[in-house]
Amino acid sequence: MRKASAKSSSEAAAADKSNTSNTPELLNSEHFEFLSNALRTLSTGFKNLPEFKDTVTASENVGDILTATAERLRDNYPYFHPLYAGQMLKPPHLVAQLAYALAMTINPNNHALDGGRATSAMEKEAVAQLAAMFGWPKFLGHLCGGGTMANLEALWVAGQSAPEKMILASSQSHYTHQRISRVLQLPFETIASDARGRIDVKVLEKRLKRGGVGTVVVTMGTTATGSVDPLHEILALRQKYDFRIHADAAYGGYFTLVENLEPDTQKAFAAMVEADSIAIDPHKHGLQPYGCGCILFKDPGVGRWYKHDSPYTYFTSTDLHLGEISLECSRPGAAAAALWATQKLLSLTKRGDFAQGLAKSREAARTLYDRLRVDEQFITPFAPELDIVIFALRAESVSATSMFSRQIFKAAANRDLHLAIADLPIGLFANLPPDMKRDRDTFTCLRSVLMKPAHLDWLNQIWSRILASVTDVQNSKTGISRRRK
Ligand SMILES: *Cc1c(COP(=O)(O)O)cnc(C)c1O
Repeated sequence: MRKASAKSSSEAAAADKSNTSNTPELLNSEHFEFLSNALRTLSTGFKNLPEFKDTVTASENVGDILTATAERLRDNYPYFHPLYAGQMLKPPHLVAQLAYALAMTINPNNHALDGGRATSAMEKEAVAQLAAMFGWPKFLGHLCGGGTMANLEALWVAGQSAPEKMILASSQSHYTHQRISRVLQLPFETIASDARGRIDVKVLEKRLKRGGVGTVVVTMGTTATGSVDPLHEILALRQKYDFRIHADAAYGGYFTLVENLEPDTQKAFAAMVEADSIAIDPHKHGLQPYGCGCILFKDPGVGRWYKHDSPYTYFTSTDLHLGEISLECSRPGAAAAALWATQKLLSLTKRGDFAQGLAKSREAARTLYDRLRVDEQFITPFAPELDIVIFALRAESVSATSMFSRQIFKAAANRDLHLAIADLPIGLFANLPPDMKRDRDTFTCLRSVLMKPAHLDWLNQIWSRILASVTDVQNSKTGISRRRK
């Protein structure tokens, strides 16, 4: 990563201008033309007002300070680039970036119609499209800050409708469920995961038999390994034991549109129509800037739990205000505008361009997995269900393998390939070589989230850099032992 230089901002900007042949393009002047045209359209909507210019924004320091900001922002991994194949990060779609910037000039607040009339309407349309993707024509739902907020609302409603009853989630569910339950003062228990990182349905049934369970959190794509809990099998248990089902689809939800999944995974997604609530994060796979999660409830009647008296919020309309069905108060209307614009461009349909993009990510993960699986230097726990690949270098012990993972992570970064590392229970590696010493309970592995469609086109690049990084690590190791002798 380049360090910010000590040069003045304008000098740095001038130097950068002369050396842009090889730099990746973020937003360009053509994109800004779209934005300035749209801004003109927007501002003519207010042309009846007497002229007013905000003098503060015209200050000449703004350019220099923005350049200084850009210098600071260089200290990031290149999330937008296909060689960033680490954590769950991808750039928002161009139309989302521009629509967000456009709406931000108005800065509407989607808490209430007074603060965000247009963007509240856009939010309702966009959220209805998300609900329709899961087969819900009727629902209650809204955008929120992210998956954690969405899950908080789901468990809050769960607690309101069945106070004191137990929340269950798998050991591979998102770590915030336990914490959210603590915040809500709801009892919480973890259910073991099986050897593919999914909730163990047999263990779940045993726990359900003992009674007192209010809600089961079903993870539709775990954050660590992309494993999908078998929702279709859990539906059968609900017939017997009666509990709420909250589908945490923060990361995986959009894969409901994708047709190149394993049959079991497909069945689980098809069952989402029967869940009681769904959390989905447009800011993960939905091409949105951060600050865009979504909670959906199948029964619009849960709105009764949200009733509250706000003395100043609701003057202008007898319509439903989004603020009346949300735990958060102020929320960015710009997030709704961005999501609305994105879904206008890329509809949430099977075989549409958006679904094809997700299918490419999935294909990239499967291709990388296939290469790792046939190469004897590597071990892999199981085939990816979505677009996350977990792997490690084979070694004499779990601790040696874990050390290699950390070294390969660094060596790959030196080759501009950015992976992630994850600590996983060794139980997920059911197929460990028999002679490998199990000297630790957790396994530090390499983790690659191939969530950009371009990852598929770059797979040869990614693969050759992984192999080269392994060689780097092996060479430096023999280098060390030679020096010791
Ligand atoms: C990312 C994630 C969350 C948390 O969502 P944020 O948007 O980061 O708050 C919850 N559950 C799952 C399965 C996730 O992948």
